[in-house]
Amino acid sequence: MSDTVESAVIVAIDGPAGTGKSSTSKAVAAALGLRYLDTGAQYRAITWWMITNGVDTADPAAIATASDKPAIVSGTDPAGPTITVDGEDVSAPIRTSEVSAQVSAVSAVPDVRTRITGLQRAIAAAAEGGIVVEGRDIGTTVLPDAHLKIFLTASPEARAARRAGELAGADVEATRQALVKRDAADSGRATSPLAMAADAVEVDTTELTLQQVVERVVALVEERRAAAR
Ligand code: C5P
Repeated sequence: MSDTVESAVIVAIDGPAGTGKSSTSKAVAAALGLRYLDTGAQYRAITWWMITNGVDTADPAAIATASDKPAIVSGTDPAGPTITVDGEDVSAPIRTSEVSAQVSAVSAVPDVRTRITGLQRAIAAAAEGGIVVEGRDIGTTVLPDAHLKIFLTASPEARAARRAGELAGADVEATRQALVKRDAADSGRATSPLAMAADAVEVDTTELTLQQVVERVVALVEERRAAAR
């Protein structure tokens, strides 16, 4: 156990949109010399491919049939994570409101989850030195043996304000409504919903700065490492 934690620490960071998962996960990975995987980007990438190729995202059977077609590759350097679909850099187009509005429907399809979960486990297994993996079901389903599981939360108002701040010209109230709708869909789906693992540490980020959240998570990783020695 001590060798495992020391040589390849696996940190799962889950939670709804706008809680600071990506910023926290990248900073924790950089501070500890770990790799970083944004699993939301993978679900966005497959959604972008469905839209681009004319697959009806309201048709689960059509999505399931096409789910193994796109080649999705994630680069795991926390200083510059990348994502390509069939060799094309899609890091910008996967962030549009069009993709955000359809990603929950695509990610709820079991064949999509099986495919993407397989990619995620392969990336985590190959990450020498360890990895921080962020998403919705990492601690519960994808990597249930992670050494540390964090579940980030924040008030809907704080989450909407942060997300609107990231998107130029976005309206905070419209952003809040879109986030709440996406959370409800992600939490309510049958297969691997957004949920906190029983052994996760919950961190409410509403009143915390990014630096405070990062320090807290880094301290928890160090604690787990010390306890395993
Ligand atoms: O993290 P982000 O907001 O970019 O995730 C986009 C969407 O991808 C989520 O709303 C959810 O539908 C899906 N997702 C998921 N499981 C994950 C990560 C993301 O279903 N582990």
